[in-house]
Amino acid sequence: MLQSNKDLNISKQLIDWYKDNKRELPWRNTNDPYLIWVSEIILQQTRVNQGMDYFLRFTERFPDVKSLANAQEEEVLKYWQGLGYYSRARNLHAAAKSIVDKFNGFFPQNYQDILSLKGVGEYTAAAIGSFAWNMPYPVVDGNVFRVLSRLFGISEPIDSGKGKKLFNELAVQVMDSEKAGIHNQAIMEFGALHCTPFNPQCLFCPLVDKCMAYTTGKVTQYPVKQQKIKNRNRYFHYFHIVYNNAYTYLHRRGKKDIWQGLFEFPLIETETPMDFLELKETKPFQTLFNGITDLAVSATLMNKKHVLSHQTLYTNFYKIEIDTEGNGLSGYLKVPVGEIEKYAIPRLIHIYLEKMS
Ligand code: SF4
Repeated sequence: MLQSNKDLNISKQLIDWYKDNKRELPWRNTNDPYLIWVSEIILQQTRVNQGMDYFLRFTERFPDVKSLANAQEEEVLKYWQGLGYYSRARNLHAAAKSIVDKFNGFFPQNYQDILSLKGVGEYTAAAIGSFAWNMPYPVVDGNVFRVLSRLFGISEPIDSGKGKKLFNELAVQVMDSEKAGIHNQAIMEFGALHCTPFNPQCLFCPLVDKCMAYTTGKVTQYPVKQQKIKNRNRYFHYFHIVYNNAYTYLHRRGKKDIWQGLFEFPLIETETPMDFLELKETKPFQTLFNGITDLAVSATLMNKKHVLSHQTLYTNFYKIEIDTEGNGLSGYLKVPVGEIEKYAIPRLIHIYLEKMS
């Protein structure tokens, strides 16, 4: 049984964080349910960067429910071309027609009516209802599962029936229902940008004092899933940073992951492969090199495959020369360059150092 977690401070902190950190996206700052609906359907299976152009083109051609309902299906699909999962476009089109038929062309303003539209599930209905009309329905997507499971240290699997019910209750409890729209946007954006699957920004987190996962050192263990992951791919990016030709930086790996207690270079882990230009745009990279403007970068060992039991690592090593130290490095151990091998380091880093010598 879930104890009451009604703490509107969490919602306030999330909203404050959101106001300072949100991305400017074309479907934000509107309360037009049609535009919100189209953006949510596009984003169901598409990353934000890729979805943006599609959203702009689609809504330029079909700016409202009626124009979409009146279009031929072939044309709707043409505007969807390249996004994949075409059933999304067909459902949008069919739902637009039903809005014209059943609701006289006006987007329904009742949660159950929104939910009745083809292709609209609970998550999308909550997003449309809360963003457009501040309806007090929580959105519970992957980002929200992650934030809540970490914040409250919940081990109930998110893919179990019991887990879904529990997280839904919790999402209602932490929501300031008078500010449902901005709260929902804030918690999703916080999960997408700050409390990320890998490298969450705990040291700069407004909720760190309240976070159970951080307090107990178990951040990477949440959220819990029922399905056993048999083998997973991981994408590591190591930074062999050399300061004034004299020092480099290491840190010690924490518990509950591979290589517990060993030392390694500053690491950013990503969910998918990323090249250096993409990596530079990420928050962990900007935090790590905060205050350092002049980076002399050489890619020294790329896409190195390293197989462990139950996981395969794909690793890039970058050697970066700097002549000023930024505050992002303050938490790392500063080690004379000739002394790295005095530390217990994983085999993978040995391989890199051998190649460099
Ligand atoms: S402290 Fe870390 S794990 Fe906890 S909410 Fe903040 S970013 Fe997420």
